[in-house]
Amino acid sequence: MLSSLRATFVLSLSAGLLLSSCEQHKPATTTPAAPAAPTAQARYECPMGCAGSQSSKPGKCPVCEMELVKKS
Ligand SMILES: [Zn+2]
Repeated sequence: MLSSLRATFVLSLSAGLLLSSCEQHKPATTTPAAPAAPTAQARYECPMGCAGSQSSKPGKCPVCEMELVKKS
């Protein structure tokens, strides 16, 4: 009787700990640790905004062959 009471107490205690630890870990998982997109680097894009024309270096658009323009 007493041991089962203690078991439920420990269970609820650990459940509460789990919940609180989850809440603490939430902001860490939602915020990206390392930026995947190179936003600081110069980007070049077709002035026509063609899909797949974005490049990290100057060149020509693979779609319409226009000169890529630098994007800030
Ligand atoms: Zn283009």
